[in-house]
Amino acid sequence: MSGIGKSPQTCPGISKFVRPVPEFFKCPECGGQVEIWSDEDTGICVSCNKEFPRPGKEKSCLDWCEYADKCREIIREKKTLTPG
Ligand SMILES: [Zn+2]
Repeated sequence: MSGIGKSPQTCPGISKFVRPVPEFFKCPECGGQVEIWSDEDTGICVSCNKEFPRPGKEKSCLDWCEYADKCREIIREKKTLTPG
């Protein structure tokens, strides 16, 4: 209904990959904030600059969907089209 809009080929499960948002986790080293973008598996602590993997990595539909290859293609295209 909402969000994806004019991209009928994408399923809702990959919206966070197509339109990544930053998520914050507590740094296990210094207690600072580790910023991990929703399309990334690792992030950098803003305080100590160390890299950490996403805690409790959630399975996305890309892990099991039979159309995952199509979605990966779409994600790749979006990333190429969007600068930065
Ligand atoms: Zn830290």
